[in-house]
Amino acid sequence: MLDIKGLKVKLEEEDKQILKGVDLAVGAGEVHAIMGPNGSGKSTLSYVLSGRDGYEVTEGSALLEGADILDMDPEERAAAGLFLAFQYPVEIPGVGNMTFLRTALNSQRKARGEDEVSSADFLKLIRAKAKDLKIDAEMLKRPVNVGFSGGEKKRNEILQMAILEPKLCILDETDSGLDVDAMKLVSDGVNALRSEGRSFVVITHYQRLLNHITPDVVHIMSDGRIVKSGGPELALEVEENGYADILAEVA
Ligand code: ADP
Ligand code: MG
Ligand code: MG
Repeated sequence: MLDIKGLKVKLEEEDKQILKGVDLAVGAGEVHAIMGPNGSGKSTLSYVLSGRDGYEVTEGSALLEGADILDMDPEERAAAGLFLAFQYPVEIPGVGNMTFLRTALNSQRKARGEDEVSSADFLKLIRAKAKDLKIDAEMLKRPVNVGFSGGEKKRNEILQMAILEPKLCILDETDSGLDVDAMKLVSDGVNALRSEGRSFVVITHYQRLLNHITPDVVHIMSDGRIVKSGGPELALEVEENGYADILAEVA
């Protein structure tokens, strides 16, 4: 699904290397967690995959189902099946949530050469998904994320995923003080959307989130590289002993 090889990234503005050769392969249907100390480059990795400005890829590749996403603009990445959820979802005053979702879905479909979804079909779709996720109709009409509580934003993020049906979801929850309820929302949402054809990369600082989302693989990132990978027990090791032992061992 995702194949990142030797990815090196520097800041555009200054000569600062942030990713120093990231290798990451995520199979279809797998859930991978990326953990690691603050400043190790986890968020940078998700920004670069999303196509955010300000970063320069100096080496390496990132393929989504064999297609090089680094060559695509952000819209093309979305159409190719990439979805990124960030800690602080963007607020869009003046644009209703439902209008936003329908526009996003139809622009993806258009980019794929598929027919747009009619208003009637979209209404049916969003009502069904919202019901599954216990999202009330009122939230669908409000401007995107404006004045949403932390929990509502998380719920909305899951709704976006449910509607857009991405192949690869990257969730950067790092450093976010997700409370227990929000964490449960995210993990229930991820678990509900887990499927053979859909993969997840969950970036998290906290092992707690991984109590609810059992990952297939846990990676530890440090100083711009993935330095260790293992099973879910690796997250428990981090929880118990912190990063120092693992980093000393791989140094
Ligand atoms: P993490 O998400 O693992 O905490 P980040 O990707 O946020 O790490 O940051 C990795 C490193 O890159 C840090 O040292 C951070 O200060 C630096 N960095 C990232 N973006 C910028 C930027 N725009 N300007 C300066 N330094 C940056
Ligand atoms: Mg950080
Ligand atoms: Mg981060």
